[in-house]
Amino acid sequence: PHSAPRQRPARLPPGLSESDFSTAVKDLRQSIGAENVVINDQPLKDGWYLEHPNTHDAFHVVEQEELVCSAVVYPGSTEEVQKVVRWANKHLIPIYPISIGRNVGYGGAAPRVPGGVVLDLGKRMHSILNVDGENASCMVEPGVTYFKLYEEIQNRGLPLWIDCPDLGGGSVLGNAIDRGVGYTPAGDHFANHCGMEIVLPNGELLRTGMGAIPGPDGTDSPVWQSFQNSFGPKIDGVFSQSNFGIVTKMGFWLLHEMPHRSYCFTFAQDEDFPRIVEAIRPLAQKGVLGNIPQLRHVVQELNVTGRRKSTFHDGEGPMTREEIRRAAKELPLGDCSWVFYGTQYGDAQSVERQLGVVKAAFSDIEGTKFWLPEDVPQDHYLHSRVQVNSGVPILRELDWLNWLPNAGHLFFSPITPTRGKDAQKIHDMIVAGHKKYGFDVFPTLCIAGREMHYIANVIFDRADADQKRRAVALLRELVDDCAKEGFGEYRTHLLFQDQVARTYGWGDQALMRFNETIKDALDPNGILAPGRCGIWPKRFRGRGWEL
Ligand code: ADP
Repeated sequence: PHSAPRQRPARLPPGLSESDFSTAVKDLRQSIGAENVVINDQPLKDGWYLEHPNTHDAFHVVEQEELVCSAVVYPGSTEEVQKVVRWANKHLIPIYPISIGRNVGYGGAAPRVPGGVVLDLGKRMHSILNVDGENASCMVEPGVTYFKLYEEIQNRGLPLWIDCPDLGGGSVLGNAIDRGVGYTPAGDHFANHCGMEIVLPNGELLRTGMGAIPGPDGTDSPVWQSFQNSFGPKIDGVFSQSNFGIVTKMGFWLLHEMPHRSYCFTFAQDEDFPRIVEAIRPLAQKGVLGNIPQLRHVVQELNVTGRRKSTFHDGEGPMTREEIRRAAKELPLGDCSWVFYGTQYGDAQSVERQLGVVKAAFSDIEGTKFWLPEDVPQDHYLHSRVQVNSGVPILRELDWLNWLPNAGHLFFSPITPTRGKDAQKIHDMIVAGHKKYGFDVFPTLCIAGREMHYIANVIFDRADADQKRRAVALLRELVDDCAKEGFGEYRTHLLFQDQVARTYGWGDQALMRFNETIKDALDPNGILAPGRCGIWPKRFRGRGWEL
């Protein structure tokens, strides 16, 4: 069903006639090569993670043909990116840069404005420009995936780690500018970047951090990957989750490999949730937990083993707690409620001592059990955490997608304080919302000392229009419910970016007015990713584009 003939005519960029567009395409083909400009008029294929489309959102939660581009363009160098940007200004065509475009659950490769031109940077710009073993850093182009960077470091025999998210096929650079997270002590990807090179919406080139100092004889500054600041305002942040520039190079700090020990704790009662959070907070704040561990509900033990929901549950509606309990009993960790997946770092003695502190913190919670990798079978998820928490990219979490036929998923990702009563409040809203709209609740919390990224994974059947409608309604309602209590999302799917941006409206939308001021100054023609993260350029603003 995923490569049926197109139902609608191919999309054009907004405001362009067919002949305007074909003139523009001819113009661009001349400038960067005909083979690097591909019109999106063929049947759409959702593919799968490793063969993902760059024409639309593979996990379409609206009609498959709704969020589509008019064409995909493949620049091969920074100069060609500049050429495309100047071309877009000349023809007033919105362009939408992606690095790899596997941004699953947040919109994939789809442009926010249908008919925009997708700039697929990763296809031809995928060099690892530098790995510096002494400085423990690297510099990459947009198309470098976690797998590729990991392999390069292995091939060179360097004793260094990267930090990867749950799925290793994404772009190191793209994930960082979308402010994604991983799970080693360097899990905050944007915080561990060091220097960028950016093509601005007018085609000019900018380097941030120490990259602003030219090195001798046309070389790069030797401190570009050593110090994150330059002189004056620190501007890197405005290029994350924004549409102010196209990042063509980015530096990252790497970790030194170290001994590590992964483990999990299981808890007996769902109601222990706030107590677990209270026990975790001091551990995380004091640095006893040195990385970003995860707290997951036991239902995740079912879906991460690639099982079908229909194995446990007949018909419509979410699984009942009793069904989850019964199914969990058959699995290695048994009947429990929450599972805490952690890793301690350091030599064996130190890890032993750290584990003593962690065990003591959970000892008051009745029914708590402690598990090491050797206590569970080889295919248990704990072994996947051993890898991810030590910087080894894997694809294990794709097993979710067996839960339903034609499964797609959406993330609802609010930031909750690492405080029992607040976390419980957000969890209750999420549970109530899922119940109302008929979805299973799949909570994963990525934990830091003062906040947790609560990632609720809404799995839906892409062939079922009603499920898609309900998934959208659920997201919209949860965004509003959380905002009423003063909570907000760290990241969201394209469709909800306007709504989420509006919730950050303190001071009569002071933050958005500031962003719009920057947008209009940098991108007067409004060509770069209009609408991304709710930021619309003047040309589009208030003309019915906001959702
Ligand atoms: P990944 O495949 O790593 O998940 P994507 O390439 O899909 O990441 O990037 C996620 C989002 O970040 C994109 O939708 C796009 O809006 C933005 N983005 C990605 N790469 C760049 C870039 N090089 N410059 C500017 N924005 C980018």
